[in-house]
Amino acid sequence: MSGYLNDVVRLYLRELVDWESYFGWRKGPEADIEADRNAMGDILETAAQICSELEQETRAGWEQEAKLEDGHVVYPPHITKAYDKLREAGLISFGVQEKYDGFELPSLVANVILQMVSRADAGLMTMVGLQAGVADDIQEYASEDLKRQYLPRFASGEVMGAMDLTEAEAGSDLGGIVTRASEKDGRFFIDGSKIFITNGGCEVHLVLARDDDSFEESKGTTRGLSLYIVPRTLPDGSRNGVHIPRLEQKLGIHGSPTATVDFERAEGFRIGVKGEGFKAMLSLMNNARLGVAAQGIGIGEAALSSALEYARQRIQFGAPIAEQPLMKDKLARMTLELEGSRALLYRACSLMDRNRAIRSALARSEGGQGELSEAERVELEEERQRNDTRVRLLTPLAKYMGTEAADSITRNAIQIYGGLGFMAESEVGKLHSDAIITTIYEGTSEIQVSFALKEIGKGALSVVFESLRQELEAFESPELKTFADKVLRGMSLILDASSALLADFSYALMSAQSLAEVVSSVIAGAELLKQAKADPNRFDLAASWINRRMVDLEGRCQRIKEGSADRLARCDKIIALIE
Ligand SMILES: Cc1cc2nc3c(=O)[nH]c(=O)nc-3n(C[C@H](O)[C@H](O)[C@H](O)COP(=O)(O)OP(=O)(O)OC[C@H]3O[C@@H](n4cnc5c(N)ncnc54)[C@H](O)[C@@H]3O)c2cc1C
Repeated sequence: MSGYLNDVVRLYLRELVDWESYFGWRKGPEADIEADRNAMGDILETAAQICSELEQETRAGWEQEAKLEDGHVVYPPHITKAYDKLREAGLISFGVQEKYDGFELPSLVANVILQMVSRADAGLMTMVGLQAGVADDIQEYASEDLKRQYLPRFASGEVMGAMDLTEAEAGSDLGGIVTRASEKDGRFFIDGSKIFITNGGCEVHLVLARDDDSFEESKGTTRGLSLYIVPRTLPDGSRNGVHIPRLEQKLGIHGSPTATVDFERAEGFRIGVKGEGFKAMLSLMNNARLGVAAQGIGIGEAALSSALEYARQRIQFGAPIAEQPLMKDKLARMTLELEGSRALLYRACSLMDRNRAIRSALARSEGGQGELSEAERVELEEERQRNDTRVRLLTPLAKYMGTEAADSITRNAIQIYGGLGFMAESEVGKLHSDAIITTIYEGTSEIQVSFALKEIGKGALSVVFESLRQELEAFESPELKTFADKVLRGMSLILDASSALLADFSYALMSAQSLAEVVSSVIAGAELLKQAKADPNRFDLAASWINRRMVDLEGRCQRIKEGSADRLARCDKIIALIE
């Protein structure tokens, strides 16, 4: 099971998360924190064991695509077998609450499992990740009746789900959705066609559709969209109007079926508020974005471990290539990319968990009941609001960083293998093919950095930086303090540059990627220092991240500050040279 459950994960289980508060808020005074912490450890051990055992077979079956037979999706045998193994261990739909027969695992633990599944097979991960995401959305927005109908079946793995948003004219811009939902006698019917739907052959579709009564006036916007559960089989056992005319052939994640799904007067069951489906879908998408970041990190881990093993045994010029200074630097950079994006993801997940737990405590204490005093309630409510702002910024950054790291680490892994890396059977070549999609689905990297910019425009930076400042100023050991001060200086440079930038919207959009890079650098820097404080073995990692990224940050901030929207006109002139 080497590497699947690594030391840094154990660090988060042991001391980097305040589990006492988490379980205390979530479960109340009866919470048995030690038992819950041990249970999480056991679940992760089991997941690591299963995933490491799957690896050999999933690698061997990598080329096998899902097939369409008589309108039904047939998964490659190794995917079915692997999914069944995870299902038998209860490792599907991990967020489902205990009252609906689930484990209700914290997002951090769920995403570590997704990372392990992805390390074994990135295609398999899409299916496991989707079950958790679809079930979470049903849990948050559906009526009690629908929850009872579906959630236990998700928790047992009896049904699978899909998230149906994309259409031919609605990709990054979901305002283009024209799938129509019409109401007749209190029932809803869906007509339209969705493309690129992962796991499209499944039983339960969560479909974003435009309401018939406001169709024309809302067209082109994300208003007037509602979210529907559309099952392939209706509750009376009859077939619904859900058809799969086509499966795609892809560059990677072959085991994950990607389907066109046609809805022909298919009956749907609305979840959430009419016209607010986009908002409901955003919460699924935000969870899914963290899941895809975990997918990227899993792929990155697989590629890095393979490249390192190869570099240590490949002899050139009389020594292992891992000993060549350039190679050493490359391997260290790959590790930094992996660990920096992991730090960002785990911080985002921990914050999200903290807020979910706070919400439970606040809900229990409504109307003066429960264990919280009024003053504690007010304080927790304020923290919840601050954390929401932090999560909204950290989520797109974590998705951007984790997936771009996967792309870059796998590409560098090919380089480390030299010519062998370019052969059709190259393992790291396959991992690179899998990594690319992570930067595209669940919102492309460009969309993630634009979302991050939007949150910064709404004032997120001051909230995020205020808590970072408190953390960084609290480091006492001189070694850690030196690096904490460097991050603090980086934060000042960002604030200085971003105020100039936010004055001009098109220039801000043009610089969104640079801004995402620098903001991620300081947040991950603080998290890596926190890790180093808990485990001194991680000090050099944190120090190197901060040294390298702060130099990059300085250059980027200077460039942002000195520029203006005139650069767009220059882009036009440069591009014109190719036309
Ligand atoms: C394998 C696979 C599985 C998928 N699974 C699902 C699924 O389960 N459910 C689902 O609903 N969809 C799914 N998708 C669809 C996926 O989410 C979309 O492909 C993705 O959101 C991008 O949309 P698009 O392909 O239409 O690209 P476009 O939106 O046309 O974008 C093309 C390029 O333009 C850039 N771009 C677009 N707008 C902007 C902007 N405002 N600023 C800067 N750059 C911009 C993009 O970043 C991208 O580089 C899947 C796709 C694939 C390939």
